[in-house]
Amino acid sequence: MSIFAALAITLATFTFMEFWAWFMHKYVQHGPLWVLHRSHHVRPSPRPFERNDWFFVIYGALSAVLFITGDNGARWWFWVGVGIAAYGSVYFFVHDGLIHGRLPFWKKTDSVYLRALNMAHKMHHKTQGRDHSQEFGLLWVSPKYLRLAREQAAKKRA
Ligand SMILES: [Zn+2]
Ligand SMILES: [Zn+2]
Repeated sequence: MSIFAALAITLATFTFMEFWAWFMHKYVQHGPLWVLHRSHHVRPSPRPFERNDWFFVIYGALSAVLFITGDNGARWWFWVGVGIAAYGSVYFFVHDGLIHGRLPFWKKTDSVYLRALNMAHKMHHKTQGRDHSQEFGLLWVSPKYLRLAREQAAKKRA
């Protein structure tokens, strides 16, 4: 496995995971697995761990299996595991750490992109029920939130 192939698989997996997370969130977590995801829409969360955190355990276990069977990177699926783990870590830091304040050291950011992402996800949490929610993705942000965040930043500077 060349370093370029490894990198390409990792990046492709990472990108695919954003789509996958959006799909799962919209059709599965707000569908048949609402029982696990509901805890995430009850705000503020009553406990440090939510039932929704099981999704991290599931994806963590999946990437662990890919690492263990991946022959230290000689097999292509090892790098799929790297992509899943990388996406999961970014998801945790941005979604749980920044947006939901579970990592208290990361409170404010001036990044237009992160502020837009925060707005879009707060929109998702406007509803506490299973239905009629919007903005199921995380890292891909609709242009309208980017525009809003840019306008806010411009106002702050003025
Ligand atoms: Zn949701
Ligand atoms: Zn959330």
